[in-house]
Amino acid sequence: MTSALDTLRRDFGGDIIEPGAADYESAARSRLVAGSPAYVLRPKTVEDVQTAVRFAAGSGLVLSVRGGGHGFPGFGTNDGGIVIDLGELADIEVVDAERHLVRIGGGAHWGQVVDALAPHDLAISSGDTRSVGVGGLTLSGGIGWKVRKHGLALDNLVAAQLVTADGGVVTASADEHPDLFWAIRGGGGNFGVVTSFEFAAHRTTRVFFGKVTFPAAEAATVLQGWADYLRTAPEELTSITNVANPFTGGPEAPVEVHVAFDGDDPDAAAAALDPIRRLGTVLEDDVEPVAYADVLVEGGTPPPGIHVVAHDGLVDRDSVAEALRILAETGTSAGSPSISIRSLGGAVSRVPSDATAYAHRGAELMVTTFTAGPAPVIEAARPVLDGLWGRLAPYLSGAYANFLTTADETDVTAVYPKPTYERLAMVKEQYDPSNLFARNHNVRPGRMS
Ligand SMILES: Cc1cc2nc3c(=O)[nH]c(=O)nc-3n(C[C@H](O)[C@H](O)[C@H](O)COP(=O)(O)OP(=O)(O)OC[C@H]3O[C@@H](n4cnc5c(N)ncnc54)[C@H](O)[C@@H]3O)c2cc1C
Repeated sequence: MTSALDTLRRDFGGDIIEPGAADYESAARSRLVAGSPAYVLRPKTVEDVQTAVRFAAGSGLVLSVRGGGHGFPGFGTNDGGIVIDLGELADIEVVDAERHLVRIGGGAHWGQVVDALAPHDLAISSGDTRSVGVGGLTLSGGIGWKVRKHGLALDNLVAAQLVTADGGVVTASADEHPDLFWAIRGGGGNFGVVTSFEFAAHRTTRVFFGKVTFPAAEAATVLQGWADYLRTAPEELTSITNVANPFTGGPEAPVEVHVAFDGDDPDAAAAALDPIRRLGTVLEDDVEPVAYADVLVEGGTPPPGIHVVAHDGLVDRDSVAEALRILAETGTSAGSPSISIRSLGGAVSRVPSDATAYAHRGAELMVTTFTAGPAPVIEAARPVLDGLWGRLAPYLSGAYANFLTTADETDVTAVYPKPTYERLAMVKEQYDPSNLFARNHNVRPGRMS
């Protein structure tokens, strides 16, 4: 280990942060989870990433690869191991203005991306938060305000550069290492460190954005009418409905239908949004045209001792009515977690389910719950939470990795349907046979037994 450490110190051009260093505490933690790694390595170049990966592979220590550090399970840190923090690899460049091709460093955040692309009137289908990393969000999916029009973030990926477990550099695209390209579009960080992503961006200026709220008592009819309408609504319209928002009254909070119309034509926006306004008794309507860059919100870091527990499930068309009935009932009852329902369909559903390792192309909705607080609050909330997910279970068709705090066998099975898992396992065997990259919804190398 000492000579490996000497080699690291000689060859690594970035910062090596160890316990005792002034900035150790902030370097050690990911956004949602505190950690105590032995080394936080901050590469400045692809060569540094290669050096870091070789050091980690030889050390026998647990390895975390941190993009934006927002993963709910805290995969971006660990105790006693190594963290490769990609924050310095955040360059963003329009590499082909005509084809709207954009190269983004593996440690960039979506806020940096929207700011860099806005002067070009471009944007990429991403998520809703500036500080979330391009890495984690894209490698498992990417469900944001353009999802019905332009698909998941990973649907807009055209190539990626990775450092694999042996320290080598490969490019994955439709033409180069197509098996790896398939796997990284849904298989998370299982296959290597992505040092840069190349995306096809879309022309974007302003969008119509805001929320329309309805009384909690109308939750059942509003939710069902909303889901019915989104089946035929223009794909420019993407929507997220929140029930039991803790900041506006919990179970008594109004039903919030958040909308983004991806276009700057006011007549087209009004035509798409009016059916939403007719879903019930409108309490508030603040939809207005805004620059797309202003739509993304900042993400906070919870104070010490505060935990955030997220869980999600995907709902296919046949189960929408029953799932929404349960959600409306729970959301307006005491002790409900905060519930968020995201519209899918549109461009997501036009991609064949075996075309990428994100396989849940038939899902119309994604349901997420969030609970936050100190450990006793989380414990006290558990019975209602478990009860809700137990009732929803028969109506779920799988899960989206990026809103799961847990990563046990049940979660892995929900994230990757069996044929997807088996194909991922074979790609894993080829690129990471010793499972160096295991801090993720983990795919074990080789065939499923
Ligand atoms: C406040 C908040 C808002 C969110 N909003 C959305 C949203 O609107 N839409 C949505 O789809 N999701 C959303 N998410 C979920 C988000 O997509 C996941 O938390 C995601 O994993 C975060 O990625 P990250 O790079 O920031 O996190 P990290 O914790 O750094 O990484 C998560 C996983 O990806 C791996 N990884 C990250 N970068 C790389 C890389 N370059 N190469 C290899 N592996 C890598 C890590 O090893 C880890 O396993 C949100 C999360 C939060 C906390």
